Amino acid sequence: MMKLKKLVRDSIRNLAETPSIIVWKNFSSAGVPKEMADCVVIGAGVVGIAVARELSLNFGRNVLVIESASSFGTGTSSRNSQVIHGGIYYPAKSLKAYFCVRGRRLLYEYCKKHAIPHKQIGKLIVASRHEEVPKLNYLMNLGNENGVEGLRMMEGSEAMALEPELQCVRALWSPTSGIIDSHSLMLSQTGEAESQGTTFCYNNTVVGAHLEGQQIHLHISETESLRNWDCKSQRYPDVVLLPKLVVNAAGLSSAALARCFSGLNRGVIPQSYYSRGCYFSLSNTTVPPFRHLIYPIPEDGTLGVHVTLDLDGQVKFGPDIEWLNDIDDISSIQNKFDYTVHADRAKEFYPKIRKYYPSLKDGSLQPGYAGIRPRVSGPGNGFVDFIIQNKTVRIVEN
Ligand SMILES: Cc1cc2nc3c(=O)[nH]c(=O)nc-3n(C[C@H](O)[C@H](O)[C@H](O)COP(=O)(O)OP(=O)(O)OC[C@H]3O[C@@H](n4cnc5c(N)ncnc54)[C@H](O)[C@@H]3O)c2cc1C
Repeated sequence: MMKLKKLVRDSIRNLAETPSIIVWKNFSSAGVPKEMADCVVIGAGVVGIAVARELSLNFGRNVLVIESASSFGTGTSSRNSQVIHGGIYYPAKSLKAYFCVRGRRLLYEYCKKHAIPHKQIGKLIVASRHEEVPKLNYLMNLGNENGVEGLRMMEGSEAMALEPELQCVRALWSPTSGIIDSHSLMLSQTGEAESQGTTFCYNNTVVGAHLEGQQIHLHISETESLRNWDCKSQRYPDVVLLPKLVVNAAGLSSAALARCFSGLNRGVIPQSYYSRGCYFSLSNTTVPPFRHLIYPIPEDGTLGVHVTLDLDGQVKFGPDIEWLNDIDDISSIQNKFDYTVHADRAKEFYPKIRKYYPSLKDGSLQPGYAGIRPRVSGPGNGFVDFIIQNKTVRIVEN
């Protein structure tokens, strides 16, 4: 904790003005130290890192990133497909469609400029039965409306010539889709942020906050000290930070954490839903069967069990979808998520994959890893766009 206090002091060296400190009597009687800060970003995943970089590089702010794990990018940001999406699937004119297309263009530019390992390998969305072709046409129109470049419909024969192991009747070719080494991306942006004075403070967890007047007080505890906490007995944080700006980029637990911010209007915080997706890798193959990303027609609000490749060409299949119903807010903040991939899930993967890869051999799928998506809508509730809450929304209770 001494280290955290020193890091905070270092990060506020350029603060122009000092907000007034109103002492919260419980904390003062408990002797909890308080420190001023300019911007605090909660969470060092790909989002928190990018925000910290932007705030320090382009806005000249002093940024302190509080991360509960011992390093950056250990959450969802290292448990995904590492695909750079073209931007096809989102409803036209939605914010997600707009940002996916624009973000993809900017991401390729960034990768080139900073030598981030990536490959624009392209993707085939495949109809394995004639009845699926209208859905493929729908996706092509949607992608065109969203401004996705270079989309082209292929006859099955052309797609199968491109990918000899593939079975399909028609395919939609998306040349702008690709793959990226997401760890290198995060490393690069962390380095840029640090060179602008951002401080990354690991092994510390934001456990809540309260308001005194307009001043937010962030409650921080060492992650280690929370491990054996029963979640019931009252415990004081190790330090309270008084920042001018807080960015909650805590990923899976961001909504749960917001609910621990006393004074925040509960009505503006989205409900939390979690869905786990597992991956299986291919054993007993030395030559990868595919060279491009292969996706089935989306179903049940997911992109379907697809083929992704890493930058070495190794193939994996996934993710599937399993809704998790037993995660309460405290477990979420303590990062108590189960990432186990049970081998018996493979039996549901085989028929899904064989629709487009019929020669997949029995016994060739090996458990890989799992990732969990934080969602703001539950099963069957359809698409929900990004939510932007501005000054017209009553964020603070009064
Ligand atoms: C199975 C799966 C496949 C996906 N595939 C793709 C894909 O191919 N392409 C794509 O673009 N996206 C994909 N995604 C989505 C992508 O991975 C996420 O959008 C992205 O990683 C989210 O990053 P984040 O920074 O918001 O969250 P995270 O990476 O989870 O970062 C949040 C950080 O906050 C920290 N934290 C949490 N609580 C606290 C606290 N209280 N105090 C301090 N720190 C805290 C965590 O330790 C973590 O490091 C996929 C997601 C999943 C689950």
